[in-house]
Amino acid sequence: MSSSAKHNETYTSTCCYCGVGCGVVVKKEKNGSISVEGDKNYPVNKGMLCSKGMNLHYTVNDKTDRLLYPQMRYNKSMPLKRVSWDDALDRTAAVFKTFIDKYGPESVAFYASGQCLTEEYYVVNKLIKGFIGSNNIDTNSRLCMSSAVAAYKMALGEDSVPLCYDDIELADLFLVTGANPAWCHPILWRRVEAHKAANPNVKIIVVDPRATDTCSVADLHLQINPGTDITLNHAIGRLLIENGDIDIEFIRNHAEGFEQYSKLVFQRTLSESAKICGVSEADLRLAAQYIGEAKGFITMWTMGLNQSSVGVNKNLSLINLNLITGHIGKPGSGPLSLTGQPNAMGGREVGGLANLLPAHRNLNNPLHREEVQKFWGGKPIDPKPGLTATEMFEALESGKLKAIWIMCTNPLTSLPNVRLAEAALKKAKFVVVQEVSNKPETLAYADVILPAAAWAEKEGTMTNSERRISYLNKVVDAPGEALPDAEIICRFARKMGFKGFDYKTPADIYAEHVRLTTKTNIDIGGLSHEVIKEQRSVQWPYKKKTKLGGTPRLFADKDFYTPSRKAIIHPVPDALNSEMPDKDYPFVLTTGRIRDQWHTMSKTGKVNKLNQHLSESFIEIHPEDAETLGLNEGDVTIITSRRGEVRIKAKITTTIKKGVVFIPMHWGKILGSDLNRANNVTSDALDPISKEPDFKFCAVNLQKFKKP
Ligand code: SF4
Repeated sequence: MSSSAKHNETYTSTCCYCGVGCGVVVKKEKNGSISVEGDKNYPVNKGMLCSKGMNLHYTVNDKTDRLLYPQMRYNKSMPLKRVSWDDALDRTAAVFKTFIDKYGPESVAFYASGQCLTEEYYVVNKLIKGFIGSNNIDTNSRLCMSSAVAAYKMALGEDSVPLCYDDIELADLFLVTGANPAWCHPILWRRVEAHKAANPNVKIIVVDPRATDTCSVADLHLQINPGTDITLNHAIGRLLIENGDIDIEFIRNHAEGFEQYSKLVFQRTLSESAKICGVSEADLRLAAQYIGEAKGFITMWTMGLNQSSVGVNKNLSLINLNLITGHIGKPGSGPLSLTGQPNAMGGREVGGLANLLPAHRNLNNPLHREEVQKFWGGKPIDPKPGLTATEMFEALESGKLKAIWIMCTNPLTSLPNVRLAEAALKKAKFVVVQEVSNKPETLAYADVILPAAAWAEKEGTMTNSERRISYLNKVVDAPGEALPDAEIICRFARKMGFKGFDYKTPADIYAEHVRLTTKTNIDIGGLSHEVIKEQRSVQWPYKKKTKLGGTPRLFADKDFYTPSRKAIIHPVPDALNSEMPDKDYPFVLTTGRIRDQWHTMSKTGKVNKLNQHLSESFIEIHPEDAETLGLNEGDVTIITSRRGEVRIKAKITTTIKKGVVFIPMHWGKILGSDLNRANNVTSDALDPISKEPDFKFCAVNLQKFKKP
C-alpha cells in the first residue's frame, strides 16, 4: 500500500507533535537522512517552528531505537523471537477469533493514539465497529480532549471548533485558562504575543494555579485555587450580566438556557466566589471589565479544564462566556480548544473513540448506525458504547477483556493510577503492541510486537485544532520490516477474513472516509488526497462548491447544530468531585507538560538538545511548604498518594500556590525509572460524561527522602 520515497527532493509535511499543526518542509539528503525547516508558505506557522518541531529530523534519522521486525512468544515466560509478518498476524488473528468465538466481540479491544493518521484511525475503527462487532476502540485522545468534545456537542450541537487561527490577529482579548501555550502550543502563542506587541490595546487574561511562562505577557493573571474554574467563570458571568455587558440580541434569538444560567450565577456573592477561587474581587471585576470592553474575544483552553472529574462542566462554564457575550461566529471571537495531539481532531472525524461513529455520527442513533453498517457492508453496529481508555485496563484487570492491541501510545507512563494499568497488562491473556520504538514499557508485556513506520516514513492526513486538514508526504522508507499502521491493520483484517480492507493506497482509504461524510455537518465531499496536496491544507467542512481552502469560521449565520438551531447555555453546578486533601494527604497535586518534551519521551527523549532544557523530573513546591517540610532545593522528595509513590527532586518556587505541587507528566522508564513517573500517584477519577481522567487534582503527601 505504500509508495516509494524519492531522493534529493523536498517534501511538505506537518509537525507530528502538538495540535497547532505547523507546516514543515522536509529535505531528503543524498545519504538518506532528512532535515526539517518551517514552511514559510504555511498559514499556521509562516515558517516558525518551536524547539520540538525544529528537531523532528533527529527522531527520524536516529534509527538506533527502532523495532525492525515482528516478534512473538507463546507464553510470557518465553523470550520474544523474530517471526515473519504472516506468522505474527496469523497467530494474532487466530487468538482474536478464539476469544471472539468464546467470549464475544467485547473480549478484544484496540487502544490507539491521537498521533495516528486519519487513514489509520479510519481502518482500525472500521475493523472493530463494523466487522469484529464491538465498540472497544479508544485512544489516548480520551486523556486529552474528550471533555471538550462533549462540551462542544452539548453547547453547539456538534464537536466543532468555531473559529480559526487567523482570528487571533482579529481579537483584542484572550482569556487563556488551564493552558500554558507558551510551552505547550508555542507557535500559536508566538502569534498571540506578536499580535499583542503590535497592538497595545490587546489584552491577555491567564487563569492558572501556576505562574507559567504564558503569564509573562498577561495583563491579568488569576492564580486560582486548583479546581475552582467553574466558580470563577460563573462569577465573571455574573459580573458581565450586572454590568450590562451581554449580547441581549444574540441571547434572545440564538441561545437557550440564559434564564436558568442567570439565576445560577447570582447564587454566590462575589466575595464568596473570590474566596473560593483564592483571587481578589477587584481582579474578578477587572477580568469582567476586559471582556465587556472587547470587540473580539477568544477563550483558549486545554488540559487544565479537560483533565478533570468535572471537565465537561468546566468547558461549558467557559463556553458560556462566549455565548452570553455573543462572541462566537464572528471575526476575532469564539471558543478555541487547543488540541494536545496532532491528529486528535482527525480521529474524531472518523469516529475513532468508543462512543463515536464516522463523520461525527452518534452511536445512540439507530439511523446513523444503519447508515454506517450499510456503507461498510459488515455486521450491525453495537449500540452500546465500548470501553474507554481507563475502562479497558480495568476490564483487563478484572478478566472481562482478554486481548488488547496497543497502537502508537505508551499507557504505562500516560494513564492515571498507572500501577493499575501495569497490573492489568500482567493479567491480560494476549497483548499486541504496534510500535515504532523499542523503548516503551508496554513491550515487556507483549505477546506480539509489530514494528510500525514513523512520521515521514508513511503518507496520510491529519487535522489540527482549527479543523485544518493537511497531507503528510512519505519521505524515507521505514527501517527493517516496519510497515505503516494502516497497512498493518488492513493485513490483519484480511487475515480475519473480513472484506473491504484491500485498499491499494492510503488515498483510497481517505476517499472512503470522504464518502461517509457526505451530507453530515463535517461534509468534506470535495476532498481527496490530490485536492489537499494541491491546496496544501483545507479546513472542513469542504463541499464540492466550497471556496479554496475550505471553511475558516463556523456559525457566521448563527445557525447552530442543535435541534432548535440555537446554542445552549448550560447552567452547570460548580461542585468539584476530585479527591480532596486531608490530614494524611494534605497537598493538591497537579500534573502537566514541560517545554521541550512530548508525551512519554519516546521521540523527544532521543534528542540531546531537548533533554538539556530540563533533564530530570522534579516537583514544584511553594517556599513556605518547603520550609514546613524541611525541604531544600534539589532534595529528593517522596510524594505519596493512596495509589503509589514518586521520588524526585524538589524545585522550590513562588510560581506555585501554597498547598499545591506540580510534577511533569513525561517521565517514566524511557528516561529514568518508574519512580519518577507522575502517574504512580494520580487519581483515576473520571468525568462522568467524557470519561476523561482527573490528572489535575489529587491529594498527596510529601516528605524528605532520608538515606537509610
Ligand atoms: Fe510542532 Fe506544535 Fe511546535 Fe508547531 S508548535 S512546531 S506543531 S510542537
